[in-house]
Amino acid sequence: MNIYAVIPAAGVGSRAGFSKNKLLQKLDGISVLRRTVSAFAQNAGISRIVVCVNGSERESVARELSGFDAALVAGGATRTASVKNALCYLAALPCPPDYVLIHDGARPFLSQKVIDDCIATVRQFGSAVCALPCTDTAVLAESGFIADTLERDKLFTLQTPQGFAFAPLYEAYGKISEDDAFTDDSGVYAKYVAPPRLFAGEKANVKLTFAEDFAMETYRTGIGADTHAFGEEKGFIVLGGVKIPSERGLVAHSDGDVLCHAVMDALLSAAGLADIGHHFPDTDPAYKGADSLALLARVYALLQERGLSVVNVSAAISAERPKLSPYIAQMKKNIADVLHVFEQFVGISAGTNEGLGYIGRGEGIAVLATALLKSA
Ligand code: MG
Repeated sequence: MNIYAVIPAAGVGSRAGFSKNKLLQKLDGISVLRRTVSAFAQNAGISRIVVCVNGSERESVARELSGFDAALVAGGATRTASVKNALCYLAALPCPPDYVLIHDGARPFLSQKVIDDCIATVRQFGSAVCALPCTDTAVLAESGFIADTLERDKLFTLQTPQGFAFAPLYEAYGKISEDDAFTDDSGVYAKYVAPPRLFAGEKANVKLTFAEDFAMETYRTGIGADTHAFGEEKGFIVLGGVKIPSERGLVAHSDGDVLCHAVMDALLSAAGLADIGHHFPDTDPAYKGADSLALLARVYALLQERGLSVVNVSAAISAERPKLSPYIAQMKKNIADVLHVFEQFVGISAGTNEGLGYIGRGEGIAVLATALLKSA
């Protein structure tokens, strides 16, 4: 069974107010088009993907879809023209598909269930149009007045994917005249083949249309851990940028601020970046005795470059000594200032290890930290 996905992606997105193709806009670092294509690439029922692109964007789309086995076909002036080009390309293949699923490039949140249901429905009925039942009252209006209230039970709004047996759809597209104005493929099939069959869509399967649709917030958590051993007599340790009296200092290439290090790793991990050892190697003399709050500020800059901000961080310090409670408020303030959050979004707890293990024997301090980041 040969089932192809066709994704028209040649629109410029003028309604969204972008100068370039809205499908190349990134959502949390991944373009809308890559997300959409990825959903079909993950589905075992789909044999191959065809993407309709503008000639001028061919290279950038190819780059955007690197790693996917997607054929790029020239788009047309309208969505209908783009789909027609794709169908002509498929018809000319040595083995044309049995079915095609046509899906708006601007609907990146479709689930695997929707694709599966589309395939099952089109195989049973020859057509499969993704639709949501109308939940609001719908009316017909004339000159600003209600002319008629419609029977809500019979009303649906259409989404994509829309699946069709390939041969009749291809034939239908060959019959389209210049007077025909279709907003999607179900209209073509309905006019020239038969009434298309509906299947249940999902609310999340929205079409990104306006600029604000692209400003979606997403969240990521991260975890970080660090341990430093006590070393020679020094008179203090540094935690969260606070100098705390301690007979012995912590062994480290930097200032040994084990709290900042764990927080930095939690932040980097949430952002999907390499850990602090990669960014600030302890073999680099530049970081000898480094102020870890300054390094934390550099991690914050890395997050900012990626459009990520900090929601909160939380850290648990395990230390048999020294007593930390008098210094926690200042640690919170220091870290909050660097991360540009209010102090209540930095949580720090400190406890002993009840005399157990290396921490209990007072050989070192360990910190576990988590972070939550927000994009957009
Ligand atoms: Mg460390």
